[in-house]
Amino acid sequence: MPQIQHIIDALERIAPPALQEDYDNSGLLVGEPHTEIQKVLVSLDVTEEVVEEARSCGAGLIVSHHPIVFKPLSSLTGKNQVERTVMAALRAGIGLYAIHTNLDNVAHGVNAMMCRKLGLEGMKVLRPAANTLAKVVTFVPHGHAEAVREAMFSAGGGRIGRYDECSFSLAGEGTFRAGKGAQPYVGQPDERHHEGETRIEMVVERWNLSKVIRGMKSAHPYEEVAHDAVLLDNLHPTAGSGGVGTFAEPMPWGDFVDRVKSAFGAPMVRHTIPTKNTVQKVALCGGTGSFLLSDAMRAGADVFLSSDFKYHEFFATEGQITIADIGHAEAESGISQWLVDQLADLKDGFPNFAVLLSEVRTNPIHVS
Ligand SMILES: [Zn+2]
Repeated sequence: MPQIQHIIDALERIAPPALQEDYDNSGLLVGEPHTEIQKVLVSLDVTEEVVEEARSCGAGLIVSHHPIVFKPLSSLTGKNQVERTVMAALRAGIGLYAIHTNLDNVAHGVNAMMCRKLGLEGMKVLRPAANTLAKVVTFVPHGHAEAVREAMFSAGGGRIGRYDECSFSLAGEGTFRAGKGAQPYVGQPDERHHEGETRIEMVVERWNLSKVIRGMKSAHPYEEVAHDAVLLDNLHPTAGSGGVGTFAEPMPWGDFVDRVKSAFGAPMVRHTIPTKNTVQKVALCGGTGSFLLSDAMRAGADVFLSSDFKYHEFFATEGQITIADIGHAEAESGISQWLVDQLADLKDGFPNFAVLLSEVRTNPIHVS
């Protein structure tokens, strides 16, 4: 039987927790990592009804997109639905895990799901993430270069977009002199030693930095491993906010609206006056996306599709782009099924393990 930690590991491979926004509270919110569970229930939100659903179907963990706890709880007395939901989960011994803005911020996450539903192609991140990349450089005797490279790759180094095992190597010569008490791998104490070395460098996501450096050191033969860890100014190619993609053919505005409604089960689309008769390039953001309007305009999108626009924000298009606003829950509704599919891979290692999609309608907004 898997432990909650196995599910966490799988979810963190999908979306590193370090990619969550400052205001967010993703991660394990209730429960102990080593609890064994047989079933996981996936839902967009956690409510008391969802906890009850998990209890009655025997799920030991609820994975939701939205975290039930956002602000720290100073008491647990059941005075509001957040406290009652947490208490119900505790009483039933059910863990709660949220995978929220970190799933928004990976290119294969929420926005990719929305692009697929609409039939948009060639998705790129709308606002690539800053301050996420570093470069690690080390110098290693030629004969050990491959082992060190391999150790760094397997710790997560050298990933760029859809590529992995990216590195650069250059042959050169290093020098060192071993001092008192040193046990040099090669060379004599108190004498300058010249050694043919390979300089290996690779990009590392900052959240993998210590793991990659640990891996590098463990495969490196030297007692003191010379290395540079340099924070990069580059933007992340496959992490950040929102997405932008194109339809193979321009689509008449009316057809676009129909497609949005059917793809997301949206009862209506609130929008500004269409700036063009047809739509081809669409920027989008699952959840509250108005903060990306200027990015969508810069990307040259015909439409910016998102949720939760306020009245005054609809004025900010400058006639350059059409805002299309659909319900928050409708826009993100496909992400629960997507998570169910991703977690189903765990069944390979744990045959009796099951992942279920919640049947509770958690969306508090109704359209009449
Ligand atoms: Zn959301």
